Amino acid sequence: MTRIPLRDGDWPDPPASPDSAPFVAAAREGRFLLRRCTACGKAHWYPRTLCPFCLGETAWEEASGDGTIYSYTVLAREEQPRTVAYVTLAEGPTMLTSVVECDPQALAIGQPVRLVFARSRDGTPVPCFRPVEADEAPAGPAS
Ligand SMILES: [Zn+2]
Repeated sequence: MTRIPLRDGDWPDPPASPDSAPFVAAAREGRFLLRRCTACGKAHWYPRTLCPFCLGETAWEEASGDGTIYSYTVLAREEQPRTVAYVTLAEGPTMLTSVVECDPQALAIGQPVRLVFARSRDGTPVPCFRPVEADEAPAGPAS
């Protein structure tokens, strides 16, 4: 099977909303934001103003962009093969996403992946993940 590219500029446009505007603005600068509860301390995905665990207030924080593949499938019959994957972030939440820039036959559950932003048709950043190369250092947020 052929390698799956980033497909930059070929993703559906995410719906714009006031709630997602800070996420999109940060993503345009290459930063990946999550929301974390100020009461119980848990991070979650997708971003919500109230914690899905305890209904506490939440705040934005910059995430590392590191994760591991929890589960995935390869849509091999598409004209351009693609993946649908659940990735568990280093911060805890699991998100529905896509693994790109990869050989789909070399993917595995538990494999380390790193965030990469693709662009939708209108240029909005779309959070995807790519495999971490064996000699790559952990990323972590810029300090
Ligand atoms: Zn909470």
